[in-house]
Amino acid sequence: MNKGTLSPDDLVITNLDGRQLSGERKVSSEVAMHLLFYRMRPDVHAVCHAHPTTATGFAVAGRALDQALLPEVIVGLGQIPLVRYATPGTPELSAAIEPYVPHYDALLLANHGAVTCGPDLLTAFFRMETIEHFAKITLAAETAGDPRLLSSREVAKLMAARSRYYVAPPPGGGAELPVTSDSADSSSEHVSLTRSELGALIDEAVRKDRARS
Ligand SMILES: [Zn+2]
Repeated sequence: MNKGTLSPDDLVITNLDGRQLSGERKVSSEVAMHLLFYRMRPDVHAVCHAHPTTATGFAVAGRALDQALLPEVIVGLGQIPLVRYATPGTPELSAAIEPYVPHYDALLLANHGAVTCGPDLLTAFFRMETIEHFAKITLAAETAGDPRLLSSREVAKLMAARSRYYVAPPPGGGAELPVTSDSADSSSEHVSLTRSELGALIDEAVRKDRARS
């Protein structure tokens, strides 16, 4: 259905097993994903699932929104991991999401969209807005130049300030911290090569190997 033309009459009510209790329409094919949050997180009373353009662009590009770039996002959500792809509306998608549910309030779904949860509907909705806002800013920063990551020291200060902003992180704890300027440094075992540089290295290795045999 076109979500812009929905009216309250189109909504359905189900129980926690997904069995329809009222409403004329059929239950969404993605109901299992919603129920997963309600079952695993007693603190959650609303789940918001959408396919916002820019955030979904990151999910399609195989990129988590996990960089320490904006204090507001770090305080509110920590980071937004990317859940591996599974067919929408199938048990495989729920299985892919499940390990993240106790630890995160917002997830990107590879080649699909995003899902957020919260203690009430407005919070879940604002978290979805935050994801899209963050995705747009990340994209703008990458277009403008090199986004500057915050350090792990700065991230630790923001995490410590969460209670001051009345942010209750997921009770499961154990979320990965966002990628910081120093965590990026320590994991910089990666090198970038152009296709021709890589080709030259392979050619050279093959030549040495042939010379040896
Ligand atoms: Zn969807």
